[in-house]
Amino acid sequence: MLSEGRDAAWMQYALAQAQLAFAAAEVPVGAVVVCDGQLIAQAHNQTLQLGDPTAHAEVLALRKAAQVMGNHRLNMCTLYVTLEPCTMCSGAVFQARLSRVVYGAKEAKTGAAGSVVDVFANRQLNHQTEVLGGVLADEAAQLLSDFFAARRHDAAQNQTAHRVPDTALRTPSTAFAASAPEGLYLSTLPATMGMRMHYFMQKTACDEGEGATTWIFLHPLWHWSAWWAPLMQCLVDQGQQVIAPDLIGWGRSDKPKKTAWHTLARHVDAINALLRANQASRCVLVCQDGSEQLAFALAKHLHAHEDGQNNLVQVDAVVQLHCTETAGIWPAPSGATTKKTWRAESYLRSHFASYSNTLKATQMGQSGYAALIQEACAPYPDAGHARNWACTCFDGGGQARCARDALPVPYLALQGHAQRDARTLANALLDWQAHSLPEL
Ligand SMILES: [Zn+2]
Repeated sequence: MLSEGRDAAWMQYALAQAQLAFAAAEVPVGAVVVCDGQLIAQAHNQTLQLGDPTAHAEVLALRKAAQVMGNHRLNMCTLYVTLEPCTMCSGAVFQARLSRVVYGAKEAKTGAAGSVVDVFANRQLNHQTEVLGGVLADEAAQLLSDFFAARRHDAAQNQTAHRVPDTALRTPSTAFAASAPEGLYLSTLPATMGMRMHYFMQKTACDEGEGATTWIFLHPLWHWSAWWAPLMQCLVDQGQQVIAPDLIGWGRSDKPKKTAWHTLARHVDAINALLRANQASRCVLVCQDGSEQLAFALAKHLHAHEDGQNNLVQVDAVVQLHCTETAGIWPAPSGATTKKTWRAESYLRSHFASYSNTLKATQMGQSGYAALIQEACAPYPDAGHARNWACTCFDGGGQARCARDALPVPYLALQGHAQRDARTLANALLDWQAHSLPEL
């Protein structure tokens, strides 16, 4: 009886740890290690936070306990854990030579103390550990079911908030390689008419970020925001703020079914709204291969509407990176192509043909070049998506182009940019910013 009350009392500590995991959006499992009536160590599941599949509550608690005891053998200790241990944690229990394990709820899918397998019952193992299950099992199970119910609710809400409008296509996330991770989404911008816009963002801590420059990356028209990843990382490493949207029609952003949707004014509105929503007050626009028309138009628009009150977004400069001689045309909705057989890949191959030899000869190499083409084509997995893209950026015609010399802000052109030079390029940008832009 006495031991029963003691077990329940220690399990309360483990449950408190499970609550911490819950609050951190981790699967709520907690564990404590007790020796001689003393609390030695406590931990909760941290697999997401640490990005570590072995960071179960039991393993983390045993690690801490071994540190406290100054010994990897914990013969005199008892482990209290809110959920039946898995095979990995049971293995850790044997390695620590624990005398006793007390757990709460059963785990029907991975439990290794009787539910799926029972490693503790195996008499051939060189160490025997006493096991007791079911201590405060209801509390532990309730916490887990609350957690999974909340997670399902969040997922359902996300689905509704980001429903695909009838006017658009959405590339399934399975089309993207794991190497091209997801960023953030906005689908409430009036400028995008319910279409979901995807973007990457890294901002510095609130106090420091106030009034600091944000680098806005407008991707080349034959790629999407993932193109900027190496350069953005270099800038982020140096404490810079960055935002890189997928323009509506590209990447993970929704793709309007009607090509007429794509006007320069609409894209300017959409980016402007995104910058306001994220309180990017002072911006340097970085563009490449076709997105320069958007950058110029955006800079002119924001400059003209700068009233210091309503418009919080100010453009300080435009940087244009020159990679190719054959820049795309922005935007070109007239004379929409109707070729349903159009494929992004074949288009890109011919588009790149003029300078592909130079590209292949660089450090990027043949395989890097093939991977680049594959990545650029990922958002256009079928003819519907691909046709949409072709209409948008590569057809002839187009609207009135903005002249570069009419630009109301400083302009920098950098030649010979290639992805491999990300660090050098980032340094060049920061150097230029420090010497050519007015002090904040
Ligand atoms: Zn485990």
